[in-house]
Amino acid sequence: MGKTGQFEWNYCSLSQSGGLWHRIPAVGKRVAICGAETTMKILVANPRGFCAGVNMAIECLDQTIQMFGPLVYVYHEIVHNKYVVDRFTNQGVTFVNHISEVPEGSILLYSAHGVSPEIREQSRQRKLQTIDATCPLVTKVHLEAIKYARDGYHIILIGHEGHDEVIGTMGEAPASITLIEDPEDVNQLSFPVQEKIAYLTQTTLSVEEASRVIQALKAKFPHIESPPKEDICYATTNRQDAVKQLAIQSDIVIVVGSQNSSNSRRLQEIGTLLGKPAYLIDGAAELQSAWFSDQSIVLITAGASAPEVVVQDCIQWLSDKFGATVDEITTREEHVSFPLPKELRALQSLNR
Ligand code: SF4
Repeated sequence: MGKTGQFEWNYCSLSQSGGLWHRIPAVGKRVAICGAETTMKILVANPRGFCAGVNMAIECLDQTIQMFGPLVYVYHEIVHNKYVVDRFTNQGVTFVNHISEVPEGSILLYSAHGVSPEIREQSRQRKLQTIDATCPLVTKVHLEAIKYARDGYHIILIGHEGHDEVIGTMGEAPASITLIEDPEDVNQLSFPVQEKIAYLTQTTLSVEEASRVIQALKAKFPHIESPPKEDICYATTNRQDAVKQLAIQSDIVIVVGSQNSSNSRRLQEIGTLLGKPAYLIDGAAELQSAWFSDQSIVLITAGASAPEVVVQDCIQWLSDKFGATVDEITTREEHVSFPLPKELRALQSLNR
């Protein structure tokens, strides 16, 4: 038996099957013995929640506050999660949507979603001390956009209009990028036969949806250039794969994450596409008893920006109400981490 957070984890002899690892903690009023299902069952997807980019961005802001105090500004939400943003706002951090809102000479963090060169220039003009918490996997897409544009390609970016990441990427080469969202948009595209074209994708798309758009692009423009490596990131792919594998065993899917979190919304969509009622919630306060019964099998997962503490709150809420048993199922191990931004490390060594 082991302990994780507030739950006792009892490992039973039936805890490994079908290549998936299970751990079965005893929670609540009634407990299932070695898989005997007598009550609500909660399947907790693993991987879920924070990815390497979100971990790095949050750690970056925490350490910046430690060094400079809370009089720190962040361009856009540091990550798209209400719980995380509220925590920092309560500490005194200011989130802005325009550089003009930041007093000259202040410390400004760029969020995990990245920014365009125009924003960097505005910051320079305002003499801001900037720390770039952009996820390296978003930066990779920016660099691909820059390279394709420099090499004379027109870039078709598959992504969601208005998303911070898409705005940042398009800002790298605005005259050379066209944004599309779905296969129908491909019909509207036309390029002279001799024009070199390439596609890129937002990092947090649905793998299936993106693949449909890419197929449509390749059918219409057989000469289109593909990025050297998949742009949809490992965390997005792994969380979606886990839901695809586990939702079919479940009656209902709960996704912890905010409405403006692209990867969280994709997880909810997968649950819905698999024919399950799927809810995207910011926290346990949004759970409704009417969604569940004593016998429900509930899949819980979390978007890449949703904290584990909120997942545990939801498990506790269900356990208190329904005496659930909990079974965490690992579909893939993740061992990815990113270093803190070099500007922050330089400031830290100066402060030593
Ligand atoms: Fe980076 Fe992917 Fe996490 Fe976005 S979801 S911050 S691209 S690792």
